[in-house]
Amino acid sequence: METVDKWNWVSQVHIHFPRFRDHVDSGFMGVYVLSKDGRQHTYVGRSDASLRQRLVSSASQGDYSYFWFDYASSERNCYLKECELYHRYNPPDNTVHPAVPPGANWRCPVTGCEWGY
Ligand SMILES: [Zn+2]
Repeated sequence: METVDKWNWVSQVHIHFPRFRDHVDSGFMGVYVLSKDGRQHTYVGRSDASLRQRLVSSASQGDYSYFWFDYASSERNCYLKECELYHRYNPPDNTVHPAVPPGANWRCPVTGCEWGY
């Protein structure tokens, strides 16, 4: 099974509108973590379309000041990465488990998860 071996965050950036967008290239899918203080991982998310656009809207919905992000190589890779982040950090601002895209029958890769195998 495809797994995420280690995290190489592209960067941790202090969100400073609108210039933080300069750090994220457009046209890529990927995952991100938002933080209010730069230490606690408060929210995890992903975008299968445009990571940059998703970050802009997601960050504006909360009192977030920092984010980490990483690009993903495919929609499935994106989903697996988000699942791992979700279980690793148990982020308080995430109310539901990462969603599988419509039409896909993927399972969460994390052992013991109710959405797993
Ligand atoms: Zn899971």
